[in-house]
Amino acid sequence: HARSLSYREEAKRVLPGGVSSSWQSWPPHPIYVRRGLGSLIWDIDGNEYVDLHNGYGVMVMGHAHPKVVEAVRRRVQEGTHFAQPTEEALPVAENLAERYRLPQWRFGNSGTEATLDACRISRALTGRKKILKIEGTYHGHHDSLMVSVFPDQEKAGPRDHPASVPQTLGLPQEFVDLVLNVPFNDLEAAKRAFAEHPGEFACMIVEPAMTNCGLVLPDAGYLAGLKELCHADGSLLVFDEVKTGFTLAWGGAIEAFGVVPDLVCLAKALGAGLPCGAIGGTEEAMGMVIRGELDQQGTFNGNPLTMAAAKANLLDVLTPAAYARFDELNALLANCDEVCAKHGLPANVKFLGAKGSVEFRREPIHEYRDLWDIDDRVPQLAWLWQLNRGVFKSPGSKWESWTTSIVHSDDDVQRYVDNLEEFAATVTNPPA
Ligand code: PMP
Repeated sequence: HARSLSYREEAKRVLPGGVSSSWQSWPPHPIYVRRGLGSLIWDIDGNEYVDLHNGYGVMVMGHAHPKVVEAVRRRVQEGTHFAQPTEEALPVAENLAERYRLPQWRFGNSGTEATLDACRISRALTGRKKILKIEGTYHGHHDSLMVSVFPDQEKAGPRDHPASVPQTLGLPQEFVDLVLNVPFNDLEAAKRAFAEHPGEFACMIVEPAMTNCGLVLPDAGYLAGLKELCHADGSLLVFDEVKTGFTLAWGGAIEAFGVVPDLVCLAKALGAGLPCGAIGGTEEAMGMVIRGELDQQGTFNGNPLTMAAAKANLLDVLTPAAYARFDELNALLANCDEVCAKHGLPANVKFLGAKGSVEFRREPIHEYRDLWDIDDRVPQLAWLWQLNRGVFKSPGSKWESWTTSIVHSDDDVQRYVDNLEEFAATVTNPPA
């Protein structure tokens, strides 16, 4: 990566760290990408990779999909921004209403904006301030939810009453104090939180399957149990489907697990690579926005270029039939378990739809705290191993699930499995 290394030095002169988002630089250094096509990307050194990063799970339709390219090309010639409604947003909203079984939609530009809107709407509707979240989940970088995202073991407090740990400098303690968190997949813990703070939570926000902790699926009945708890308390259940939406299934986690929340937050794969976010809700949850009592706003909301890409993406590319491809790919990725076991490397593979991860732990991860058992060096080495052998898995291996796409070939994912086997053989029996 000689060119990436030297380019970083050039870029650092005006871009802090040489990048545009701090998370674009994973150690040892950022990889600057030049282009992508289908399941492949090429960096500025000319290296080719099978892309399992897919831009943190955005490019589930594959890079430069011809139907998306054509839609963007057509729209760009007719003007790209008016801050007035255009005719592209309605078919997108109608498609979302069908996928996510929620009738009312508004657009934004990122996952952060979607979860920010969810907090605002929940607080306005309930007149309450506090928010309940899951320990170890990320919901974007606004102040209301940057709490206990990846808390250190020394700061996290007891499991039955996790501390609220600020995730960033510059976060006023007042915001931190408004957020409580409980372990994922523990209904009793959520019940206790509601019992200890009756009538105080505006909402509980949950990633219905954790995707920033490997991939952690909800236990049977967990999500339905949360909905009951929220409603019994007069608070809203919010699903953060920024990563699970369009990836776990055609209708995201709502389809996969059959529980419909009051509000759902979407982003990432929605815009096929253009910056995009959306919030959907029941008539009741969106009532204040519908009646004009609460503003949900933004200059670029429902931007015609973004909506044109989203429309092609949702209506013509990520169709229900397209999702069958993930089951075929997962049948091959399932072999990750066997190749690790063969060499005595403790590991578990998990997948659903386009998402999956290999966890270097004997028992499957069930909640955030389980990650503390994993030696950080192992997933980091596994990531580098893949990177140096033509597979760009998402960095931050211990946290980040992978994302396949509808255009990945069998050979693409087999390459990941083969690399993993070589990795397992080498780390369990290193050369003298
Ligand atoms: N929610 C989840 C679950 C996410 O993973 C992310 C980003 N990785 C966000 C929200 C924030 O989205 P964005 O980066 O588009 O603001």
